[in-house]
Amino acid sequence: MAKTVVLGAGVVGVACAYYLARAGREVLVLERQAQAGLETSFANAGLLTPGHAVPWAGPDVPLKMLKWLSREDAPLRFRLFADPAQWRWLLRFLGNCTRARFETHAARLIELALYNQSLLRELRSAAALDDDVHAPGLLHIFDDARVFDAARTHAAFMTRHGVAQHPLDTAACLRIEPALARCAYPIAGAIHTPDDACGDALKFTQGLARHAAERGVEFRYGCTIRGLALAGDAVRGVHTDAGELPAEAVVLSLGSYSPALARQAGLRLPVHPLKGYSVTVPLSDPGRVPSVSLYEERHKIGVSRLGDRLRAGGTAEFARFDTSLNAVRGRALLDALQALVPAGLDLARTTHWAGLRPMSPDGMPILGPSGAGGLYLATGHGTLGWTLACASGKVLADLLCGRTPQVEAGAFDLQRFHP
Ligand SMILES: Cc1cc2nc3c(=O)[nH]c(=O)nc-3n(C[C@H](O)[C@H](O)[C@H](O)COP(=O)(O)OP(=O)(O)OC[C@H]3O[C@@H](n4cnc5c(N)ncnc54)[C@H](O)[C@@H]3O)c2cc1C
Repeated sequence: MAKTVVLGAGVVGVACAYYLARAGREVLVLERQAQAGLETSFANAGLLTPGHAVPWAGPDVPLKMLKWLSREDAPLRFRLFADPAQWRWLLRFLGNCTRARFETHAARLIELALYNQSLLRELRSAAALDDDVHAPGLLHIFDDARVFDAARTHAAFMTRHGVAQHPLDTAACLRIEPALARCAYPIAGAIHTPDDACGDALKFTQGLARHAAERGVEFRYGCTIRGLALAGDAVRGVHTDAGELPAEAVVLSLGSYSPALARQAGLRLPVHPLKGYSVTVPLSDPGRVPSVSLYEERHKIGVSRLGDRLRAGGTAEFARFDTSLNAVRGRALLDALQALVPAGLDLARTTHWAGLRPMSPDGMPILGPSGAGGLYLATGHGTLGWTLACASGKVLADLLCGRTPQVEAGAFDLQRFHP
């Protein structure tokens, strides 16, 4: 019997499969890796953060991009390729760097992230998921007083949209997280988001995949998707390295690899890979390591405590589909973490990782019907896939099953790029 086929078992695909099964669908998930979550969902910074659920395309970004152009260790590194897709994406990204667009998109993202928070709570009380998820709150740390002043205005915007944020002076910041007293540079102030959480996205993805399998979802690992089987302009199945599989509906959640497949159905998805790095360090002295999550403005890195490990993630680089580790950028990330947390880390056992954020130019995911019959989209989660996955999965399942989602889903439709 034809099933609803979900393409990709990253955190987004697995969440889609789970909510589709809960809605009564027969679901098959196809994934090329041997398990769920082994690509971009593998070792992200771990932040579940409505407090940072805003697009990267913001009014101050074009100027910062110019300043970073020549630095190999810059938070955002440009390498321009003779690739029309990259140029088109960049132009669209710059077009979204206005105050009005930033605020409109941020409002939608915050709503989705808060919805995710409530779904995650409900899910975790229903299923025993060993995922290190906890809610210690997040401190956004500033070393520059002028930048901190501007951040106060932004905190007021976030609070108006339902994410409580409190500007703190240095003393108040250290009361919340005493381990920051060892930071190598003076802290000018911080914005505290008390309700932000963190957790291990890989453990969550694999735990949710097991839970979904118990509900009848079939996972086929080691299965490479080659293409879409089309009848006219409708999708009727999927071509894989093990042959063709029929589908009553197909959900495209291949992260950065989604556009190539969508092209076969005549669709242009403006999703571009943006490489990022993480370092994960076991703790040697937990008492000297922050337990609150951190976002450090100077180098733009996120830090989360995952059980007996500390994870820092950040940096962005146009590198096409290259996930190799650049030693300079890995070292810059570790140096930034060490400046923030100089003690309590077993640095000799550091592990480095790089992954590809599936970035849309306006920072919002692409969710819902594609316009091609039978093909649905759940991709483009960029910097926020872990923060949004459950909400995206639920919205997608609602749309596919003809139900009205609890959040305004029209904003995430692909049509916004092709009005
Ligand atoms: C350094 C870094 C730090 C980050 N930090 C955070 C954070 O703190 N908080 C947050 O919310 N988000 C964060 N993110 C973003 C988040 O990790 C991503 O948005 C999310 O993992 C994307 O999930 P996905 O399921 O869309 O993609 P993926 O996890 O990449 O899943 C896609 C799946 O499709 C499979 N696939 C692809 N092509 C094929 C094919 N042809 N056949 C079969 N299978 C295929 C892949 O194997 C993969 O498993 C970070 C990302 C990076 C890189």
